Amino acid sequence: MTVSVDLLRAAGVKVTLGRVRVLDALAIAAAPLSHADLEVQLPDADRVTLYRVLDSLVACGLALRAVDARGVFRFSASGPHRRHDGHVHFRCTGCGGVFCLKAAPPPLPKLPRGFHLDHVEYDVSGTCAACHNKTLDHSAPR
Ligand SMILES: [Zn+2]
Ligand SMILES: [Zn+2]
Repeated sequence: MTVSVDLLRAAGVKVTLGRVRVLDALAIAAAPLSHADLEVQLPDADRVTLYRVLDSLVACGLALRAVDARGVFRFSASGPHRRHDGHVHFRCTGCGGVFCLKAAPPPLPKLPRGFHLDHVEYDVSGTCAACHNKTLDHSAPR
């Protein structure tokens, strides 16, 4: 019985071996994983299944998806959060990590009469502490 099983149950999605294995892999990963990373870690997993599993984990809020500096999708486990619409996310352009911030999104702007809001997205991005430290190391004089 892993934590992933509990998380999947709590999120109200069916517990499948694929979901548990992918969520486990994301949870223990030191950095956000790409599709290719996951294919290496789970060599017997079917590629299409892997994509579907990732999509379902993102849809139920257990995984977060972002694009890294090279335009590659990266996935990270989102921790105990289940709903991510109540706070702002920070996207690291270095490692592709997505971090939940303890900050509520700003209030919605007042719309002109007859306008209907469908979707709001705040794009807060930059470098996380780990990536920032890496750039400092590289630029440090020897
Ligand atoms: Zn980073
Ligand atoms: Zn979040």
